[in-house]
Amino acid sequence: MLVDVHNHFSYYQEDTDRALKDIHENGVLMVSVSTDIPSYNDTLELARRSELILPAFGVHPIYAHEHMDQLDTIKRTADEALMLGEIGLDRKWTADASYFPLQVSLLEKFLESAQKQGTIVILHVAGAESETLDLLENYSLRNGIIHDYYGPISLVEKIIDTDLYFAFDGSYLKSYEQEIPGWKERLEIVTMIPDDLFLLETDGPNKPPRRMPLKALQMVVERIAELRKTSVEEISAHSSSNFLNLIKDDPRLSKYITIMKQS
Ligand SMILES: [Zn+2]
Repeated sequence: MLVDVHNHFSYYQEDTDRALKDIHENGVLMVSVSTDIPSYNDTLELARRSELILPAFGVHPIYAHEHMDQLDTIKRTADEALMLGEIGLDRKWTADASYFPLQVSLLEKFLESAQKQGTIVILHVAGAESETLDLLENYSLRNGIIHDYYGPISLVEKIIDTDLYFAFDGSYLKSYEQEIPGWKERLEIVTMIPDDLFLLETDGPNKPPRRMPLKALQMVVERIAELRKTSVEEISAHSSSNFLNLIKDDPRLSKYITIMKQS
């Protein structure tokens, strides 16, 4: 079974029914992140409708400054969540640099919870890659996923050394060549990550017209297979077994292991 380890399923809106049908017909497990408390509640509702939605709770770092008066609620909610994401630090999209220390405070709350409960974290690190990795050193976490990596190639070895999982996304598709500075050089990252440390994500849904989950994920699988000079089957198999390895020691996630093995 294919797994999309980072998508915003609650953003499908009027296409939700169609997207749910798509994952059930094709057997795709969606780790569905949230970016604030309302989107987490929407994601929980989706998880009640479908066992193929694995809900993750997070407050996106770009919204950190709006949540400083809700840290207690966030901590409580985080303690009960199956996974934590999307959480992290951001210097790429955050216009006001004075918000950055607030992002750190918020991320610390999530990491304290992750450490205490043994919860897997899904990390947004844009523009703050080394700062996030440095902060992680203060915690003993079960494990985590690096999402949407735009950092320096030189830091990728460090990510590999820390045994964090690296999620490949659509940014390696040719259509992003003009959009992402240094796109061509970045392609090297795809071949640097070992077979046992990569996962797949779409960060979907894309803006309307929204691509359905399987199609969006297949485009990533095909592109990564091409860049790693291997087959689609091989990429699919590795990414699925890597996800099983990631979640295997968390008893709260055993339901998803069963679902994946049944498919
Ligand atoms: Zn995202």
